[in-house]
Amino acid sequence: MTAPVNWAGNVTFTARELIRPTSVADLQTAVSRATRIRALGSGHSFNRIADTDGTLVSTAGLPPLAETDSAARTVRVNGGMTYAELADRLAGTGLALANMASLPHISIAGSVATGTHGSGDGQGSLATQVRTVELVGPDGELRTLHRDKDGDAFAGSVVSLGALGVVTALTLDLVPAYEISQYGFTGLSVDDATAHFDEIFGSAYSVSLFTDWRGPGFNSAILKHRTGGTPPALPWGTPATERLHPIPGLVADNCTEQLGVPGPWHERLPHFRPGFVPSNGDELQSEWLVARADAVAALRALDGMRAELAPVVQVCEVRTIAADRLWLSPAYGRDTVALHFTWVPDAAAVGPVIAQVEGRLADLAPRPHWGKLYATGPAALRARYPRLGDFALLARAADPAGKFRNPLVSALIGAEGK
Ligand SMILES: Cc1cc2nc3c(=O)[nH]c(=O)nc-3n(C[C@H](O)[C@H](O)[C@H](O)COP(=O)(O)OP(=O)(O)OC[C@H]3O[C@@H](n4cnc5c(N)ncnc54)[C@H](O)[C@@H]3O)c2cc1C
Repeated sequence: MTAPVNWAGNVTFTARELIRPTSVADLQTAVSRATRIRALGSGHSFNRIADTDGTLVSTAGLPPLAETDSAARTVRVNGGMTYAELADRLAGTGLALANMASLPHISIAGSVATGTHGSGDGQGSLATQVRTVELVGPDGELRTLHRDKDGDAFAGSVVSLGALGVVTALTLDLVPAYEISQYGFTGLSVDDATAHFDEIFGSAYSVSLFTDWRGPGFNSAILKHRTGGTPPALPWGTPATERLHPIPGLVADNCTEQLGVPGPWHERLPHFRPGFVPSNGDELQSEWLVARADAVAALRALDGMRAELAPVVQVCEVRTIAADRLWLSPAYGRDTVALHFTWVPDAAAVGPVIAQVEGRLADLAPRPHWGKLYATGPAALRARYPRLGDFALLARAADPAGKFRNPLVSALIGAEGK
């Protein structure tokens, strides 16, 4: 077998095999027989979270599932399905997801497992859309967890880091379909962004600010507005007259339509279009999430380390996320501001800067994105994710022999490394 690698190419998985069962029964057999096994989604994480030295299993080969319930406004989908495929399947149903991440190429189960998010003051992470989780446990048995019946067990099992089992299907909340228009702006200064942070992020359904920390302020702001009513304004910026790529200087051909042209939710909420390479394609990523109340302090801290950031940053994106109750969600218990970094693809150059960013932000207790690069150790993670101890108990009870563990998960839950 050629060793599988992640999307970014910076992780070569150590698995001795990659299997792709075509039925849930075959998946159950494979899991029950394995000594060590982990699910692989679309491989868009930048660290070893998905890795195992046993079997990697993709659920992308399971029979396609997209059962919508119009009355309940839900859809039951394969865990291995991508958001792009789901959007296609929702076409014509009059139903939509409330939010999406910056790209639709990622698998639903993999995204939910790492607390992946988009932006929006009123929008939770993608995991908050989950109503039920269906997963194969270490004994090969299928279990279903329900948001309305399973309380803490559910709250601990959605953002799971793949440590509780292989998710075959998820039921997601839907909303009536809607249109979005994207408006780009340039020329927003850091002073104006910090002085008017709440106004700016409250001005549209979903807001992102982008900077490479080389110029005086933000290279661009993208306001995603629910079509209808008055278009949003950004009095401290200049309306863009051409489409803007999040990474300054790149042509926006792989980006979703902007310039206020209305379009369906799934063709505007992600920054990047399906069928194209998202972002730059040649990059590493990190992201730290702090309490929204600390947004200005965090931006000031980053503004103060331009000399370190500018040589290794392709772009930094600022987004907001509503608080939730999912134990390992980076937005657990607090309205959140996410500080994302697309780095140059040079791990040796980026590594020290990651440590420096974490040092500068340390007083703000930043929570790293589980699927991106970070240096924070397990002790600090336990302090910043207040339910990590509860999750450790849950994971050890669900998987006593550690079939779904890998070194990253073992370090977090204080179990023997596998
Ligand atoms: C270009 C780019 C843009 C990005 N933009 C965003 C963004 O806007 N917002 C954001 O928050 N993140 C973003 N990310 C990060 C990305 O969303 C996460 O890394 C996410 O986990 C990717 O999903 P995946 O299917 O590729 O997961 P993988 O990397 O394949 O796996 C991640 C984890 O999920 C587990 N997993 C996967 N499938 C299953 C399953 N069926 N059952 C149980 N566990 C499973 C794996 O075991 C692993 O622990 C971006 C990444 C890239 C490359």
